[in-house]
Amino acid sequence: MSTAPQTVEPALLVAGRLVHDVDYGDVINPATGEPFARYPIATAALAEEALSAARAALPAWAADAPRRQEVLRQIAAVLHERSEELAATLSGEIGIPLRDARLEVKMASAMLMHRAEAELPVDVVHDDERQSVRVVRDPVGVVAAIIPWNAPLLIACEKMGSAFAAGDTCVIKPSSMAPLTLVRLGTLVRDIVPEGVLSVLSGGNELGAVLTSHPDVAMVSFTGSVATGKRIMEAAVPTLKRLSLELGGNDAAIVMPGADIARLAPKIFQGAFYRSGQICAAVKRVYVHERDEQRLLDAFGALADAAVLGDPFDEHVTMGPLSNRPQLQEVSGMVQDALDTGGRAVSGGAALDRPGFFYPPTVVTAVDADTKIVKDEQFGPALPVVPYETLDGAVAAANGTEFGLGSSVWGDDVQAAAEVAAQMQAGSAWVNRHGLVMPEVPFGGFKYSGIGRSNGAVGIDAYCELKTISVAKPRG
Ligand code: NAD
Repeated sequence: MSTAPQTVEPALLVAGRLVHDVDYGDVINPATGEPFARYPIATAALAEEALSAARAALPAWAADAPRRQEVLRQIAAVLHERSEELAATLSGEIGIPLRDARLEVKMASAMLMHRAEAELPVDVVHDDERQSVRVVRDPVGVVAAIIPWNAPLLIACEKMGSAFAAGDTCVIKPSSMAPLTLVRLGTLVRDIVPEGVLSVLSGGNELGAVLTSHPDVAMVSFTGSVATGKRIMEAAVPTLKRLSLELGGNDAAIVMPGADIARLAPKIFQGAFYRSGQICAAVKRVYVHERDEQRLLDAFGALADAAVLGDPFDEHVTMGPLSNRPQLQEVSGMVQDALDTGGRAVSGGAALDRPGFFYPPTVVTAVDADTKIVKDEQFGPALPVVPYETLDGAVAAANGTEFGLGSSVWGDDVQAAAEVAAQMQAGSAWVNRHGLVMPEVPFGGFKYSGIGRSNGAVGIDAYCELKTISVAKPRG
């Protein structure tokens, strides 16, 4: 295993200082199932210190847009310069192949550069002889950014970039199952970011609860599960916090009747199994016309056989282990449930008998609409394929869920596919692509998949209070 041994204990960034004198927890290497590093566990007292420094830093930070842009540029540059180190840390803690981790670092850096270019707009609603009415943007205040384990660097940089562009200060809390990359980022940017503007506090769920209920926090920006999103919404009630909730998904992909299966299958497969399917907006259900189903299953079976599972640091590997034991158990349980209720595995079907959290790409068919693997989010390398008779029936099935993050439609007639995409109840409806996230394009979910949008101009407005300045002009 090529995960480098940890030589120095990582430190928390709290109010401009690096803190070592805390308890440490184990980080598990997903490729072996064994501890390989330790992470610092922030106390409630450190959270208190970070939040009060974040509040104190607000006025100067909010007033200095050029400084904020420069800081964002410098953090982006650190990501670029340290990309190999950060990518290795990310691969080591969540098990994704090194090349995918490198791409995450690159995307995170690009996200920050994009936000560094952002100017807060002023909307002129009226400007005539009677009145001037303008809408300006003020910062919301201190933002608690609560991060999941699956793409910690990209998600944290999207939140931090938008918060800084708006003039907010930020406390980031990574997941205890993927703390190392963000803790390292905190150390690397300590001398760039003014004291108090950014703190990085790793810890468990209880630390998240401290932050999301704290009166000094004006906004919670959360990415994670629906269940935690609901808890955070409850915690926000007493102090009416602003919320951005990016929650789970159960994205459907509809393959148009008669589509060129040989051409499209590899792209749909990639949309489902990239990073072992541990992506919020991955393909999580496929609907295919009954006449085309067998050809699609054959193509998926061949692609699954060609996948190379193994050590994420091996450049030949296309799929690493799942990121943690609970996720392995979740995916194993869902597939077993599908097989126990009449489903058939075209590929995979059980965890690999080796150390670590390895699960092969698994395609299941002959599953009912109310099977867990069709109804719920599997967040792993297991994909149900469901045949349909009519396109209307496929659209109804795809929309018949409490989720609404992404969706996609695949076909050779792009116009016809786009018309079906327009009927999808989801924040993103892609045609002949899936899961493409761009800094300038809004992203978020319908229904239980979330509240609000990240990215794009709307993704900065989410971190602002809109203020109307309405001036009556003297009559001449
Ligand atoms: P999770 O909800 O278990 O944890 C996410 C974060 O919330 C962690 O940092 C955790 O410590 C913290 N947390 C847990 N309980 C809390 C509480 N009561 N108060 C405050 N914070 C608390 O999610 P996860 O397992 O880390 O991530 C996987 C989930 O995230 C999946 O459902 C996936 O779809 C979703 N996700 C969504 C998006 C999106 O953009 N919509 C992106 C990535 C992941």
